[in-house]
Amino acid sequence: MRTVIIGAGLAGCSVAWRLAGEGEVVLLEQALQPGAEASSQNAGMIRRLGEDPYERALAIRTAAFLADPGEDWAGLTPSVVTGALLGLAHDPDHLSDAVAHLRASGITVERLEDAAEVAPAMAGSRLIRSWYVPDERLADAWQILSGLLRGIRRRGGVIRCGVSVQRIITQGGAVVGVETSAGRIGADRVVLAAGAWSGQLAAALGLARPLIPLRRTLLHIPAHPLSRPDHPWCWVDDVGIYIRPESDGWLTSGCDEAVDPPLPGPGSQGLVESVPRALAMDKIARHFPALGAVRLSTGWSGLRTFAPDRRPVLGADGEVAGLWWAAGLGGFGVTCGIAAGEAVAAWMQGQTIDWLDPEGVSPSRRYLSRWPIRPTGALSRPRLISGTDQRLFAPGVGSTV
Ligand SMILES: Cc1cc2nc3c(=O)[nH]c(=O)nc-3n(C[C@H](O)[C@H](O)[C@H](O)COP(=O)(O)OP(=O)(O)OC[C@H]3O[C@@H](n4cnc5c(N)ncnc54)[C@H](O)[C@@H]3O)c2cc1C
Repeated sequence: MRTVIIGAGLAGCSVAWRLAGEGEVVLLEQALQPGAEASSQNAGMIRRLGEDPYERALAIRTAAFLADPGEDWAGLTPSVVTGALLGLAHDPDHLSDAVAHLRASGITVERLEDAAEVAPAMAGSRLIRSWYVPDERLADAWQILSGLLRGIRRRGGVIRCGVSVQRIITQGGAVVGVETSAGRIGADRVVLAAGAWSGQLAAALGLARPLIPLRRTLLHIPAHPLSRPDHPWCWVDDVGIYIRPESDGWLTSGCDEAVDPPLPGPGSQGLVESVPRALAMDKIARHFPALGAVRLSTGWSGLRTFAPDRRPVLGADGEVAGLWWAAGLGGFGVTCGIAAGEAVAAWMQGQTIDWLDPEGVSPSRRYLSRWPIRPTGALSRPRLISGTDQRLFAPGVGSTV
């Protein structure tokens, strides 16, 4: 049995790592190397204290894996424990369900009166609730990928970079292969793990799977006296601003979101625009006063790709036999990618798992027809977009819609 996986980001590599050695596994990547898109553009925070229960289930599983990843990561440091501070400035109960879920799962979550007790960078911030997760992690996505790639190759999996899948071929309602820039490749099963390009490849098959790429900006704060490698990463969640230690400074984002479907072919990384930079500057001044007057130096932007309910899209497609999904990992693919691969591979092998309900993440679930995005990162100021607005799905539309 041959399985072709489209996309060698965290999602595709995680599925391939689980399947390699069980039949023929071929991983196709349009870029010249694996992990060239969202998987190399992220902030690397492993966040279990999130809003969505499916995301949390995957996050808990991935974090447990990263605590002891095994021999494929020998000599690598895929993650370190820094702890995490999740602050709320407006809605004290925003993360209460999540706190209860994590505590019920045996994960320590402390409520702090003063966030600066553990996170000096939060001194003076006006928070009405502060949650501290002492064993939360910061990951290096490239090192996670390196271990996955090592394991895939070791067990005979084939990784072909610079090969772009142009379309998925079906016959009688079932997948039979893919048409690529290097010719046709037959397949018994195809896994769509193409990140921001997944919706476009599915649409060409006539499948309506609204996966929307949202651009987000990351910026460096260069050398800063409060930064240290083991400072907890800090996120004021209902406002949408985070900082994480990065060498002797910080990496930060004002959590901007702009609809931006990519053109076909590699290359989703963007430059820093003036609006997201100003957004981050303003929020740092308001919510991280202890940082003082900071300078935001270099940065980049990348695509986080979401389903309307912001849940991942995992498992068998209900309409096309042999088509599987590992997509819609939005802003939590480092946090959830390893477990997403585990779940998809288990279901492909006919196994059941007791930690994730396939219905909730099914690619064929009902999707909302209108859903909120958060242009300024603030939960209180969403903008509704519509699944019937074809302009949203047109590649290269940029943030003008
Ligand atoms: C700015 C930013 C900050 C983030 N911060 C965090 C964070 O702190 N914590 C966290 O958990 N997550 C974070 N994320 C999210 C995380 O990076 C993503 O969810 C994750 O990388 C998605 O992995 P993926 O494999 O689904 O997608 P990708 O990494 O995009 O991989 C998909 C791959 O498919 C390939 N492909 C696409 N189409 C084709 C085709 N037709 N043929 C062949 N190959 C194809 C692409 O080239 C690409 O390499 C962040 C993302 C961004 C952009």
